[in-house]
Amino acid sequence: MKLTVGHLYPDYLNIYADRGNIAVLVRRAAWRGLELEVVPIGLGEPLRAGEHDLLYLGGGQDREQGLIAPDIAAKGPALAEAVAGGAAVLAVCGGYQLLGRFYRDRYGSELPGAGLLPVHTVAGERRMIGDVLLECELVPGERRTLAGFENHAGRTILDPGTEPLGRVVSGFGNDGASGLEGARAGRVVGTYLHGPLLPRNPWFADWLLTQAVAHRTGGEPAPFEPLDDGLEAEAHAVSAARAKARGGRRSR
Ligand code: GLN
Repeated sequence: MKLTVGHLYPDYLNIYADRGNIAVLVRRAAWRGLELEVVPIGLGEPLRAGEHDLLYLGGGQDREQGLIAPDIAAKGPALAEAVAGGAAVLAVCGGYQLLGRFYRDRYGSELPGAGLLPVHTVAGERRMIGDVLLECELVPGERRTLAGFENHAGRTILDPGTEPLGRVVSGFGNDGASGLEGARAGRVVGTYLHGPLLPRNPWFADWLLTQAVAHRTGGEPAPFEPLDDGLEAEAHAVSAARAKARGGRRSR
């Protein structure tokens, strides 16, 4: 089976090796006998709903976000149509912010977003930087942890009733106060976690792939056979220990 990933703005949104997330998805898919085709979608290029099983956006500095914001805002309806059709989405940091209604940067400029996630973001004075550890439950009854790295000025506010990706065990998360990190709407996930995120959180990479397979087959997501993730587990443990060493939730 061949799956297709639409990589939005790979030339603008790619800090902290966020491109590494794509490499992990390609490799873990291949280990399951699945081919993953990665299609870049750049500025001004069309996004046709239904063509992609998974859409991906990396992080970016305010300047790069400013360059792509009008384009992603214009892609809002196509993104909503793709998601309504069952496509999965992973957006990291600056990409996450621009899946919301807007990102107001530290100069007060309001960058329009795609409006796909019920959130908005406002930059604060001080950056929230460091290792992060989350507790999440993407699959009911399955508590898991996510470990990564954050570096953002933006404070993301979830609309009431919006599901976060997880609860902050250590780190700042969305705003350094709510104890929440990321946002989730079905198969759409936004997070501040860089690293890149997926090499040290293979269960989450697999979750995304199962959503993509479900989109391709029209069926329900079904878990894969586990792989030997010993190395990944070590990377996770190191990252989680660093986050814990920061000492609990931080607030600004
Ligand atoms: N520029 C945004 C902020 O500072 C996002 C940063 C990022 O993607 N790491 O909040």
